[in-house]
Amino acid sequence: MINGEKRTAHPIRWAMVGGGQGSQIGYIHRSAALRDNTFQLVAGAFDIDPARGKAFGTSLGLEPQRCYDSYQEMFAAEALRVDGIQAVSIATPNGTHYAICKAALLAGLHVVCEKPLCFTVEEAVELRELAVSRKKIVGVTYGYAGHQLIEQARAMIANGELGDIRIVNMQFAHGFHSEAVEEANPATRWRVDPRFAGPSYVLGDVGTHPLYLSEVMLPEMKIESLMCTRQSFVKSRAPLEDNAYTLMRYTNGAMGFVWSSAVNAGSMHGQKIRVIGSRASLEWWDEHPNQLSFEIQGKPAQILERGMSYLHPSALLDDRIGGGHSEGLFEAWSNLYYRFAIAMDATDRDDQEQLSALRYPDIHAGVEGVRWVENCVRSADAGGVWVDYQ
Ligand code: NAD
Repeated sequence: MINGEKRTAHPIRWAMVGGGQGSQIGYIHRSAALRDNTFQLVAGAFDIDPARGKAFGTSLGLEPQRCYDSYQEMFAAEALRVDGIQAVSIATPNGTHYAICKAALLAGLHVVCEKPLCFTVEEAVELRELAVSRKKIVGVTYGYAGHQLIEQARAMIANGELGDIRIVNMQFAHGFHSEAVEEANPATRWRVDPRFAGPSYVLGDVGTHPLYLSEVMLPEMKIESLMCTRQSFVKSRAPLEDNAYTLMRYTNGAMGFVWSSAVNAGSMHGQKIRVIGSRASLEWWDEHPNQLSFEIQGKPAQILERGMSYLHPSALLDDRIGGGHSEGLFEAWSNLYYRFAIAMDATDRDDQEQLSALRYPDIHAGVEGVRWVENCVRSADAGGVWVDYQ
């Protein structure tokens, strides 16, 4: 159980790039990082508009001289301070992640980066090599993975409770962009522009989330080949898709499916993962994150509840309040940031034992997300054909 105990000798001196006033995702980064006293926000380059970024940083209580006009200025100035930043989170539009992440690693910082990590596998591998050679961690905010019942699913699958895994059915299909909302909304506008969003919209923006959940739950399963088709139902979004279907063959003969969509009219998130084995299935839905459905063929379905003593001990490690009280996305993100901090601290102390026991979305997860999108786009743009997974 997480109870606010001190887990690192000192809070990590931390900054943000992006996540400024009015951004969608900035607040949950701060809330998650600051929840368990593992990070201390001391600096930031919060906004593409320097004046707005400075005003926002000071409104958060930062010293005005540590609210910078740009990330370049921040990394250079903080490197000169004895109490300079040790880590940075990147919460800017996709097209900037690669350059900022690279600059941060070169500046000797640990990084938490938004997904997608970058646009190409080549860039992702370069970042991975840089992180390894500089002995820095890169955490990637696949935030849903911090939900306790994802760990429960992983443990049950590893225990063989589902039998042989046959099918992994996934979707993240919301309806918020069923119309061209980008005409009035800047945060959607960059998402449908390849210059800022990269080679895909919904595959990278939402599809990679359940894909990462499947990687956590099924660490042994590897994709062998896939077939993807993508569409732009709002025509002005072409060549970027607002809907995509991806079929996957795994090396063990299992099949996978991911529906990624922003035009599932009437749906909220619609993020679900169902893992189907020869004996039973598990299903988790992010709009009801405190429940996991366990369905054994021929028996009544069971709903496993977060925080209950019948869960696997590894799932209960992340509990914060006990069953019945609802936990949500903010707790899930806090569970990830908590691990990011422990990983950064353990890396600095070269504590390999602690690092090997720690699971979190790391640079490898970031690379795999980019790889999946790249393969999906390759298949879709060749006419929706099966391609070997590269
Ligand atoms: P947004 O457009 O709402 O906000 C982007 C912020 O970054 C703004 O404050 C903007 O001023 C700032 N910014 C842009 N360029 C900058 C630069 N060069 N330097 C400093 N600040 C800069 O975007 P958002 O919806 O918050 O998304 C940001 C990132 O978070 C994206 O990569 C997106 O994919 C990701 N995201 C992840 C999740 C998740 O669940 N992990 C959810 C939403 C968004």
